[in-house]
Amino acid sequence: MRELIVLGTASQVPTRTRNHNGYLLRWDGGGLLFDPGEGTQRQMIHAGVAASSITRICLTHVHGDHCFGLPGVLARMAVDGVAHPVHLHYPASGEEVVRALVGLAGPGIDLRLVPHGAAGEVADGLTVAPLDHRVETYGYRLTEPDGRTLVPERLAAAGLSGPAVGRLQREGRVGAVRLEDVSVPRPGQRFALVMDTAPCPGAEELAAGADLLVAECTFADEDADLAAAYRHLTAGQAGALAGRAAARTLVLTHFSARYPDTTHLAAQARARAGRARVLAAADLDRVALPRRRDTAPRG
Ligand SMILES: [Zn+2]
Repeated sequence: MRELIVLGTASQVPTRTRNHNGYLLRWDGGGLLFDPGEGTQRQMIHAGVAASSITRICLTHVHGDHCFGLPGVLARMAVDGVAHPVHLHYPASGEEVVRALVGLAGPGIDLRLVPHGAAGEVADGLTVAPLDHRVETYGYRLTEPDGRTLVPERLAAAGLSGPAVGRLQREGRVGAVRLEDVSVPRPGQRFALVMDTAPCPGAEELAAGADLLVAECTFADEDADLAAAYRHLTAGQAGALAGRAAARTLVLTHFSARYPDTTHLAAQARARAGRARVLAAADLDRVALPRRRDTAPRG
């Protein structure tokens, strides 16, 4: 099961309809919680998400709208008796703030602090790249390794069935039959989260080829001067990022409270997003990972 559960969509200040940030990515058995702002614990209840489903918490930066929900979430995990290890990723320069927030929550879970100070892999398949904001900020990218999908007709034609198929997958070859003869490439799925940033190379790197791209979209195009001053993306810039990246689905979020209606922000993003499907997120939206890129056998 792979889906994004949007827990909050407000930047800076929440509104009557928008909680501060919070994004839970369900990825097979794992649950990655990104940027838990204030109120995240309660939003999880509204979304029907158990605290025990969180296996990893990833902070892009330590501005309050992205991390003030951390103590509540951690305390709740302790109350619920979460026994599995939970890794907490954050920019190293945010150490003091993170330690304070973790300290407020008190002990009770197996929390492992994993600060990062440079681009690279921070866990299996999970990479970070620097963004351009007013404090040290990193975006995240989760990449499934490319694989191959077996084609039943080709297996049958090759006379392979049962345990031989398992052996073929493990060893790449059974007798004269090679795995590539009876399968087609299956591109790994890619998820990217680009929060608080001006347009920058790190954002491009994270977004490249994403099946699902979550991008901040604090300002409308007509407020580009504010976006530049505070180092945020406009709707058009978020759309253009998705377009250049050939992203398949773009989820816009982190809206300024000045836009009670985000319809025109979605339109501005869509105009520059190429073939990406563009959604302006609302709190508690659920977005499934798009179906895999076409891997149907040909010929
Ligand atoms: Zn923010």
